[in-house]
Amino acid sequence: MISRQSIDAVINASAIDEVVGDYIALKKRGANLLGRCPFHDEKTPSFTVSPSKGIYKCFGCGKAGNSVSFLMEHDSLSFADAIRKLASKYNIVLEEDNAVNSEAYNEQQRKREALLIALEFAKKYFVEQLYTEEGKRVGDSYFRERGFTKQTIDDFDLGYSPQAWDSLVKAATSQQFNLDHFVEAGLIKQREDGGYFDLFRHRVIFPIHDLTGKVIAFGGRQLVKDEKSPKYLNSPETEVYHKSHVLYGIFQSKKTIKQVNNCYLVEGYTDV
Ligand code: ZN
Repeated sequence: MISRQSIDAVINASAIDEVVGDYIALKKRGANLLGRCPFHDEKTPSFTVSPSKGIYKCFGCGKAGNSVSFLMEHDSLSFADAIRKLASKYNIVLEEDNAVNSEAYNEQQRKREALLIALEFAKKYFVEQLYTEEGKRVGDSYFRERGFTKQTIDDFDLGYSPQAWDSLVKAATSQQFNLDHFVEAGLIKQREDGGYFDLFRHRVIFPIHDLTGKVIAFGGRQLVKDEKSPKYLNSPETEVYHKSHVLYGIFQSKKTIKQVNNCYLVEGYTDV
């Protein structure tokens, strides 16, 4: 059970226009916002969102409610899971009692958080490596050749993984990280003798962000042709990364997609 205080904190923090706006394009109409209803098929928008009242109502199919009921309906979630999803969006820590299933949930949540922390550390590490002598020579020069501006490199957190076998292993170890989370994230691997090595080596790095901007995976492009490893290396599916649920670049582009009501889908990282 999630405490009443936590539920209230989540409901208070959840802005209906932001929650609905993660799913559908909304246009301002007086004090309200208007969009195409996600619950029935319509050409003329009749789905109305009232930020001041914190509610939505569809004048076509009659569906109505608040942020929590929107997520329950849209994502087929239970009330508790809708609260958890909103808590994660707004970085609210939930108080939950010690029921068995919430313990299992807490365990899963701890695992997710540990993974996200490892991924964030790796992202910062790869970004820093782009500005070392090797990174400038190999990584940054590749981006510049492809016509990437500094702005693009910053906006997409682009980075570089050095040629050495264990540079990320060393960096994570020096910060006393538990390497298990890096193994799980598909960043490093354990050798038979017990030691560890980096999986992303000598590559430019494209971090993959979720809708809220958290790094959940990486793509790495090989810079020097090596038949023994793939041209593109991608993170495996994990607790936080489900390939079929993520679109590369959506975090950086979602605001503009809504503003201009247009979106182009392209194939590769550099195409984006
Ligand atoms: Zn409707």
